Amino acid sequence: MLDKQQKHSQRQQRLKQKVDANIAAATKVQGVLMVISGNGKGKSTAGFGNVCRAVGHGMSAAVVQFIKGTMDCGERNLLEKFGVPFEVMATGFTWETQNRETDTIACQKAWQQAKQWLEDPTIDMVLLDELTYMLSYHYLDVEEVLSALKNRPAMQHVIITGRNAHRKLIEMADTVSTIEPTKHAFEVGVMAQKGLDF
Ligand code: ATP
Ligand code: MG
Repeated sequence: MLDKQQKHSQRQQRLKQKVDANIAAATKVQGVLMVISGNGKGKSTAGFGNVCRAVGHGMSAAVVQFIKGTMDCGERNLLEKFGVPFEVMATGFTWETQNRETDTIACQKAWQQAKQWLEDPTIDMVLLDELTYMLSYHYLDVEEVLSALKNRPAMQHVIITGRNAHRKLIEMADTVSTIEPTKHAFEVGVMAQKGLDF
């Protein structure tokens, strides 16, 4: 009978063959559309983490924040020093948005900048932070957004964050991650902390 070590190495060998075959089959090089959604914490930080990763490789990136918090944004403070341009929609958090008219105008302005970057082949990565809400509130037309994404430069990566991502956005995306909340410190009264939450 095989001992534990032999069983383990057989399992690992089979796994390695499978992984190697998958790696060999992944030969395409293209811009990837990624959606990070769900109710758990970590969507925007994951998006910004990807921008840092790209900038660390000397790539160019641009960020549109569709919902601006009242708090200072640590990632913005850092990334602007590395030449990453930001367009920030001048409203507060979702639950503070009460004026559809001014919000729609602010959203459209941010979207015009987003569209320019989505047409610019010199920008390697575009982060559209909290864009999903603009579609849920119908501040932006979903077909217009899909068309801009579809017609972007072939090598450009786009990352979209926010809860309740539109079905059509999920269909179009190449990579979709849904962050599930298990616990959040806020539920036991911990306030938003600098460096962790903003
Ligand atoms: P982060 O910016 O920390 O990555 P996020 O982008 O996933 O968070 P948002 O819905 O954009 O989440 O909310 C931003 C703020 O709300 C952050 O301060 C975050 O800590 C907080 N938050 C996120 N998820 C939850 C949750 N499930 N319960 C309470 N607060 C949350
Ligand atoms: Mg967020």
